[in-house]
Amino acid sequence: MSALLYPLRLPYICRLLLLCVMALAPSVQADELSAQPAPIRFLLTFDDGPSGSGFANPTAQVLDVLARNNQQVGIKAIFFVQTRANRSGATELGKALLQREHDEGHILAFHTATTSHANHRFLDAAELELALSNGCADLQMYTGSAPKLIRPPFWNYDARTFAAYQAHGLHLLLTDLSANDGKIWGINFSLNKRRNMLQHLRLLRERWRKDELPVVDGNTPVVVTFHDLNRYSASVLEDYLEILLDVARELEMPTASKAFYDDRDELERAALARSIRDPDSKPTLPGFWSWLWQSSN
Ligand SMILES: [Zn+2]
Repeated sequence: MSALLYPLRLPYICRLLLLCVMALAPSVQADELSAQPAPIRFLLTFDDGPSGSGFANPTAQVLDVLARNNQQVGIKAIFFVQTRANRSGATELGKALLQREHDEGHILAFHTATTSHANHRFLDAAELELALSNGCADLQMYTGSAPKLIRPPFWNYDARTFAAYQAHGLHLLLTDLSANDGKIWGINFSLNKRRNMLQHLRLLRERWRKDELPVVDGNTPVVVTFHDLNRYSASVLEDYLEILLDVARELEMPTASKAFYDDRDELERAALARSIRDPDSKPTLPGFWSWLWQSSN
């Protein structure tokens, strides 16, 4: 029966084949489009906190803005914290803010566990080991699990400190964009904020266009750094969120449907993918730090 009908079906099959070819044409174009870089997603990080100040606490202000703002509610960030620093994690208010950061879905990560913002390269082996053990234990107390991420103070690391981080299961995260607000207190204008972020994102765009950046969950994580101890940054954080979206538009870098991370697990996957694998690699650091550390090595 089917053999008899076969000749009758031939034109039908030809039409079907033609339709298939026509249907394939747009999919070829779609394949080409998929070679475009993945949309970017801003991964916000904050260094040096929490603030132990009882007056208009900037860390609390940052947490409030991340939770509620005009761009995207419920943004989750990574806080590279100082668990034992004076006027920071060592204070009662600081401790409460560390717990609040975790409870609100943010990631607590290692920055320092000394009473000051000590450079890990200037600690001897025993001092560094003590700091790392203390800090990991501190963070585990707040979160219930061992920290996975570290950002060294002053962005400064070498093969020795890198190996010590690895021994504690810590992955080193640097940054792509920086507000350069670690040392600038109070004086910064809107024009500079935008121009600064535009410059940093423009540099990153070259690597993004060449597909040199990892894609995680369909997006390209772009790491942005602020200092939550900086009252000015805390007070204009909502402006910064708008600026980031604005410079991405200007540079024609499409953002994910949710431009900022809002899930702790996704945020952690993205950060781990962007962490430094090779201690000898010399990524560009914010401000003058690349110049300083490379000229001092
Ligand atoms: Zn710092």
